[in-house]
Order: sequence, then C-alpha cells, then structure tokens
Amino acid sequence: MNEYVFHFGGGATSDDPRSRDKTITGGKGANLAEMASIGLPVPPGFTISTEVCTLYNQNGKTFDDALRAAVEQGVKHVEKATGRTFGDAKNPLLVSVRSGARVSMPGMMDTVLNLGLNDETVEGLAAGSGDPRFAWDSYRRFIQMYSDVVLGLDHHRFEDALEIAKEDNGYFADVEMSAEDWQKLVKEYKAIVQDEQGSPFPQDVNAQLWGAIGAVFESWESERAKVYRRLNDIPADWGTAVNVQAMVFGNMGETSATGVAFTRDPATGEKAYYGEWLVNAQGEDVVAGIRTPQYLTRAAREAANAKPLSMEEAMPDAYAELAHVFELLEQHYKDMQDIEFTVEQGKLWMLQTRNGKRTAKAALKMAVDMAGEGLIDEATAIKRVDPMALDQLLHPTLDPEATRDILTRGLPASPGAASGAVVFDADTAEKRAELGEAVILVRVETSPEDIHGMHAAKGILTARGGMTSHAAVVARGMGRPCVSGASALSIDMKSRTARIGGREIKEGEVITLDGSNGDVMMGRVATVEPELVGDFGTLMGWADKHRRMKVRTNAETPADCQVARQFGAEGIGLCRTEHMFFDANRILAVRQMILAEKEEGRRAALAKLLPEQRADFTAIFEVMRGLPVTIRLLDPPLHEFLPQGDEEFEELAEATGLGVDHLKRRAGELHEFNPMLGHRGCRLGITFPEIYEMQARAIFEAACDVADEFGEAIVPEVMIPLVATKRELEILKTLVDRVAKDVFAEKDHTLDYMVGTMIELPRAALMAGEIAQEARFFSFGTNDLTQTTLGVSRDDAAKFLGPYVEKGIYPRDPFVSLDIDGVGQLVEMAAERGRKTRTDIKLGICGEHGGDPASIAFCEKVALDYVSASPYRVPIARLAAAQATLG
Ligand code: ADP
Ligand code: MG
Ligand code: MG
Repeated sequence: MNEYVFHFGGGATSDDPRSRDKTITGGKGANLAEMASIGLPVPPGFTISTEVCTLYNQNGKTFDDALRAAVEQGVKHVEKATGRTFGDAKNPLLVSVRSGARVSMPGMMDTVLNLGLNDETVEGLAAGSGDPRFAWDSYRRFIQMYSDVVLGLDHHRFEDALEIAKEDNGYFADVEMSAEDWQKLVKEYKAIVQDEQGSPFPQDVNAQLWGAIGAVFESWESERAKVYRRLNDIPADWGTAVNVQAMVFGNMGETSATGVAFTRDPATGEKAYYGEWLVNAQGEDVVAGIRTPQYLTRAAREAANAKPLSMEEAMPDAYAELAHVFELLEQHYKDMQDIEFTVEQGKLWMLQTRNGKRTAKAALKMAVDMAGEGLIDEATAIKRVDPMALDQLLHPTLDPEATRDILTRGLPASPGAASGAVVFDADTAEKRAELGEAVILVRVETSPEDIHGMHAAKGILTARGGMTSHAAVVARGMGRPCVSGASALSIDMKSRTARIGGREIKEGEVITLDGSNGDVMMGRVATVEPELVGDFGTLMGWADKHRRMKVRTNAETPADCQVARQFGAEGIGLCRTEHMFFDANRILAVRQMILAEKEEGRRAALAKLLPEQRADFTAIFEVMRGLPVTIRLLDPPLHEFLPQGDEEFEELAEATGLGVDHLKRRAGELHEFNPMLGHRGCRLGITFPEIYEMQARAIFEAACDVADEFGEAIVPEVMIPLVATKRELEILKTLVDRVAKDVFAEKDHTLDYMVGTMIELPRAALMAGEIAQEARFFSFGTNDLTQTTLGVSRDDAAKFLGPYVEKGIYPRDPFVSLDIDGVGQLVEMAAERGRKTRTDIKLGICGEHGGDPASIAFCEKVALDYVSASPYRVPIARLAAAQATLG
C-alpha cells in the first residue's frame, strides 16, 4: 500500500484516517472503508485516491510505476481476502470498478461490473458456481458494460442483438435465456466489438482493469460531469477516486437479490425503511428501470396494493439483518442513509452507504425528528437543512379545491407542483426556458445527458423508472417536481406528440404535474400559498433562537409585505419607491413632472402625486406596524418613466396641453449615454429637491397617521441612494430633517426616524468614515456595488458571465453570490470605518445577496446587524443566518 491506494474490507487493518477521508478516497470509498471498519459485511477492495485523478489528467493520461505496483498490491489484498485469483481460469476473482468523487455525482463514469471475465475465466466461474447460465449472463453483461463505458461503443447494437436473440427463441423476458443462449450472445457481442473498434474485446484481465481505471479518471473531464459541476459549484480540481471491489452476485438464483434502500422515506421524511429490490438481479437492474422493482417492506407493498412479495416477506432472514444494519448505520452516521446492498445466496453484502438525498420536506422532518429522538442536537438539526432547499416549500402548491383534469397517475417521485409547456428533449427544454417559458420535460426515461434540460424545466415526467430511477433521484436533488413511471405515457418523437392516458398532447401544450401524488393533469391548475407550520415552524423557531442577525425583507407592496411578515420578516430593509410611480393612475403625473421645464411645473405635478404616495406608505406601514421600514428615495434615471411610442406621447400631450413635438424634444434632452452612471440616485434629489421633499413628506405624514390610528408606529428609515460624498448626504439630510420638522409641527406628533444611506459606490465605501458623520445607518446596496466595483453592467452581464464562471474567473455569478474577495473587502472596510465614526451605526445589506446563504455567512463575519431578502427568501435567510451564527 502506498499513499495513493487504500485497502478496505477482508480484514484490511488500515488505521490511516486518510482512507476514510472523502477528500482522499471519495464519498463511496470513504464510506466503504468506514462500513468495513465498524464490522459490516463489505466485499473487500481498494481505492485509488482522488489525487491520482488530477495527476493522471495533468500528466498526459499515464500511470506511473508506483501506482502500478500499488494497484498490484491492492489486487493481492482482494485475492487473499476472497481466496480467488484475478485472471485465474479455475477460480477467478471478478471485480467491479466504480468511480466516486467527494460528493455523489451523476455524470461520472458508470460502474463496470464483472471485470475479470474472459473466454477462459467464464468457464471457471461456470464450474465454480455450478451455474453456467449465471456465468455466461455475467460475461455478456460485462462485455456490454465495458464496451459502452470504457470503449465508448454504441450500446444500441448490443441491445438490438439481445432483442433479436429473444425474438428468435420466442422469449419474452431475459430470464428465459438459457446458458447456451447467453453463450451464443457473447459470441455475437464479441463480433460487434471487433467490428466497431477493429480489434477484439480485451482478454487480458489486467488490460481490462487499467482500461477501466483510466476511463473513470477521464470521465471526470466529460461534458456531462462538467455540466453537473457547474450547476452544483463543484471545483474542477477535486478529481474522482476509483474503487475496485470484489464482486458479489445478486444474480445467482432465487436466494440472491439486489436492492437500494433508505433508512427513512426520502420523500416524506417518515421514519420507515424505504426501498426497492429485485430477486436474481445485478446492481444496475434496479435503477435502470428494465424490470420493475419490488417493495422492500411489507407495509409499503400493502400500501401500494402490489402483488410481488416484499423482501421482508420473501427473504426474512436477510431482511432482518439488513434492518439491523440500517439501525447501526443511522447510529453511526447520525443521519439518514442511502444504501446499496446485494444478497448472494442468502448472505447480505453492503455495497454503498451515503447520507441520503431528500426533499426539503423530508429534510425538515428528519432534522426535527432526529433532534427529538436525541440522535442529534438542535444546532445540528439547524445545520442539516440546506436553506436553499426550503425554496421548494415556500412556493405555492396545487389548490386542493381546484378541479383536476387528470390524464394519468404515475409515481410521486419528487414532490411539488409544476405547470408548463410539454417538451420532449433536454435541448428544447433549455431553449424554451431561456426565452422565459415554463416547460415540463417529458421523456420515456432520463439519463445523465438530460441534466441541463431537467435543470431548465419546471417539472419532469417519465414513462419508465421507479422511485430511485435517474429522473427521480436527480429531480429530488434539484428540487424539481417529478412524476416517474407513468406507464400510460408514450411519446412519438417524429410528430412530437405524446399520448397520455389515451389523449394526445402536442409539444407546447400545457400540463400540470403533482409530484406529491403522481397526478398528471391537462392544462394549468390553480395554486395556494404555503404556510410555515409543523416541522417548518419548529425548525424556524430553533433558527431564530440561534441567530444573531435580524432578517428583513425587500418589499414595496402591502401584499409582499404581508407575505414577508408571515415568513418572519423583522422589518423592511429596502422599500423601492420607483415601482409606485409606474402605476397607471399616476404615470401621467410622473411624466408631467419629469418633462416640466421649470420648478413650478414639477411642483404642480408632484402635488398630484403626494396623496398617492402617502397612501402607498400608509398601506405598507399598517402591515409593518411595530417594525423598522427603510424607504429608498427615488433612484432610477428619469427617462425610464418617459412615454414609449406615439400613442403615449399623444395621451400626455392631451393631458398637459403641450404639443407632441415639444414633449418629444424635451424627452430627447433626457437621453443619456450611460444611464446607470448618469442622472440618478441622490443626484436627482440634489438637482430636483422638490421630488425628495414630496417623498419625505409622504413618508412622515403616513407614519404619523398610522401611529395615530393604531397607537403603534413604524420607525421610518429614510435612505438616500447612490451617495458618493458626505456633502451630498449632508444636503439631503438637511432637507429630510426640515420636512420632518414641518410635518411633525403640522400633525402635532413626533416620531423616531433615521436618515441614512446606501453604500453602493466604491467611493462611498472608501469614505464611509466621513459619510457616517451624517448617516445613522448604512445599507449595502450590493447590486450596484458589484456593478461599479467590477465594472460589469448587470444588465449586459448575461452574455459573458456564464463562460466566466465556467472558466473559474469568478467562482459564482457575482450578482447572485457576493464576490467576497473583492466587493466583500469594500463592505468590510466600510462597516469598520462607519463604526469607528458612529459606534451605534446600523448596518445592513439589501442587495440580491441578502437572500444568498454564502453571502449571509459573510455578513455574519463582518457583523452586520441585518440582512434583507425578497419575501420568499426570508425563511431561507433566517435559517442561513442561524447557520452563520453557529459557524
Ligand atoms: P453508482 O454510483 O452509479 O450507484 P455504483 O458503483 O454504486 O454506481 O454501482 C452501480 C451498481 O452496481 C450498484 O447497484 C452497485 O450496488 C452495484 N455494484 C457495484 N459494485 C459491486 C460489487 N462489487 N458487487 C456487486 N454489485 C456491485
Ligand atoms: Mg451506487
Ligand atoms: Mg442601487
């Protein structure tokens, strides 16, 4: 053994903790070693570390002598543990070659089973097992898998050959094939290989082994692996490990079986064993959807009203042992486990365990349950749930009252509801989704090549596959609703139509999926808002107890404020006022104001807007009673409000009594070459103080009115945007203070309020110490701050940011997740300088980043007082803030 190869199982006594470190031996390898070390039955094997993958791909795809020697040692270990010999004609050792990155990664090389079979060893396997049918079946599986996965040959020719063989014999199922039939097929398979690649199928078992090892490493660089890495933020330099493991056979007759299982239900979180298994089958058969798997437990079989016996009933002894292993594993890993096992002639073998993927609902339930069981503590429960996964639960679900025009019912593979246009392939899904259309990807079954389309789709529907099929597993991981195994679905790719339950659906027609019960419905079905009750409420309560930062929301309508408050928002961090100006009733007055040449004209128009604006704030303040509300004064360049097209100009001309030509000329004068850096933000307030005056008046009048009426006030925090200098803020703060004084005198009422600024320009961050003399609070406007610091226009970035992220120039889209190294420095510095001037300065963040868990962790690090997120992200931010506090 050297530092690149680690043995496991079969009495391997490695104390080297690296063998159980996922970064070294990958998730699969580390867990195999771990299971073996706690005494579970694991077929012996060895793992080649992830570092070798990186070296291999860097060094021209070659293996060095040290590695060759270490692998030879590894094979010896397995030979010794099994009493078989690799390549031996009498008593051959067969192995599987399995990839395994740090995190489980669809897109990596598929496993090759039964490696070590050739024309000689197959005879040994037949004689040794006394079952030639099994031996030849294994050999044909091996040739097909190896050809597909390692040699890169098209698998269709092999599949066709098998179909023809069955037809010729008048067989229906694979199980009817005899030893001789398989043997004949093996001959044909070898001929196909010869024909396709111009050389025979490799007979040398060592050549087979090295071919497979190289293929695993190369698959790390495959397109589908790259896509998956990009979607999941997995660094390219992690590499994958290779696991070589003695084969155990689930296909050795009726006392053999293979299956997958979860220690709790991954869809609901229920504490019940959950899984699928097949008698007389080998690994891939369960997930591939070739045969329909059977239920693991009797309860599940009965609930589904299924006939074929559950494992609990058919193999009670092996099942009891398996159930015992489930308990040991949960106790050991303190989390729900996703397990692969095989029973070889009555003996149970564990082939894999990992922390199971789960739906958001299940994650919540398991975290709360496990804390209740004493398996984990509250802090661990909080850390268990991925904040972003909550998104699945925060969106509307199908209205139980709505009528459903049901086409068919499949398996509820991934919960949630989705409506969208039917598309039949991943590329179309991606294309149409990019144009903003909601699509449902409808496939016979999915494969790793479909990942980009699954990601683009709102939901996934497949005709084949069980609850652990590719579609189901990937959809659950992505949080996409999925209905699988809808056998009443057929697709005609030529006419691009589907038949579902006897009805014809053309591509583009809208259907709705209910991933929670498997319903597939015609058309769009109405939805209802979710509620934060049950486990969700419990976990949120724990999160609130453990977090330090407050969570506010970005909202500007009473309805959004209401949603946010229900979701636990503790105030408004950003109430933009420009959206209010677009309202159909007022846009005319707004345009009049903008196009007026003189102050009087502007004031006249603003006088019309004042009551409207005051009503906006009154409605918001009512909802937010008792909490702070930050209102940003007008920010965007004025030309955004200008009339578009002749019709709107004519309408305005009529309202103002001014000529269309005159208005058009005036509008032309407002044109800017670079509006994001133009006449906007506080520059509007400096040049047209009457605008900010009107807004300040509306705020204070509304605040006084609400306080009078309800005896409970909000604390208005008036926020001046795009400040670069202390002087700007000084001028505008004086204005706001004067208006406040006037209003309070008129209303005979005072209230607490604050004036502060956004920090969204690099100069403001640099000068924060000075600006803090005028500002009682800073709110980091990280959208603009990112834009101005990176010199990247947010509105134009889509064209190049994708490739930038792919090339690792930015680890993630800096408009989604804060550029901590760059922009983060400015935030940290401004916070520090602001605090130095004013120790009790209130600090928050109101950019898009306020709802992004990684950015929230950074905000905790620099000790901001609050983050502000869009209403549906508030619970995500609450949980992320708690996780940030817990570290
Ligand atoms: P994946 O990551 O795609 O699940 P795996 O390496 O886990 O790939 O293997 C695919 C299938 O082959 C699984 O069902 C697994 O249990 C089975 N398998 C892998 N190695 C062995 C082995 N040594 N003996 C029997 N079955 C195996
Ligand atoms: Mg597996
Ligand atoms: Mg801004």
